[in-house]
Amino acid sequence: MGTSGSPVQRDASTEECISNGCTMDRNHLASEEGFTPEQRAFMTEAIKEAERAHEEGEVPVGCVFVRDGTIIARGSNATNVTRNGTRHAEMMAIDKILAAETAAADFSQCDLYVTVEPCIMCAGALSLIGIREVFYGCPNDKFGGNGSIMSIHVDGCSRGCDQITHNHHPTTSPLGKTYKSTGGLYREEAIELLRRFYISGNPKAPKPHRKVETWVDRLTAQVGGVTDAAAALGAAEN
Ligand SMILES: [Zn+2]
Repeated sequence: MGTSGSPVQRDASTEECISNGCTMDRNHLASEEGFTPEQRAFMTEAIKEAERAHEEGEVPVGCVFVRDGTIIARGSNATNVTRNGTRHAEMMAIDKILAAETAAADFSQCDLYVTVEPCIMCAGALSLIGIREVFYGCPNDKFGGNGSIMSIHVDGCSRGCDQITHNHHPTTSPLGKTYKSTGGLYREEAIELLRRFYISGNPKAPKPHRKVETWVDRLTAQVGGVTDAAAALGAAEN
């Protein structure tokens, strides 16, 4: 993978948005130029975790948690090997931190770099632990909890829960904290990892009876092809 990243394709609406001072494109993804070298370096480490997951037959999603400029935990998707659909990269890393620092671990100074937008479950967990900021690669338009399907980073866990009265904890206050979230950091590389995995076939995925449009199909259409990223990742060897 190149360290400079490939420029994100833009259309007229994106240019208009940028001219109005917005650094996000129409999908609320930041331009590659907007990230610092340090942020790129941390996402590069997250991509390494995703590649590790791929090598182990898992859906290639990886992440790192960073505090004070240091990686304190790494995680990669492990749903196949554990036969547990909740073992997403973020949850694996959170569990490592909690095990090392006890349940009183302070996430208020922690940032997450993850190759794919956190799903709703993980976004909820990140809200509840009080993560400071999230950087992700490509959007998750089926389960994304940081803007694609729900905006838990903006709403906390309160939406739909405001009126819930728990037996032991009566509350009408919002649950969980909000956090800053920015997507688009090495988006094409993240997509290419997913494409390579799904093209070769997820060994644990149920076999559809008919061809269905996949998440990767939609992502590919969104970025208009990822040939540069594919070359950068050495996908040609496949
Ligand atoms: Zn998740």
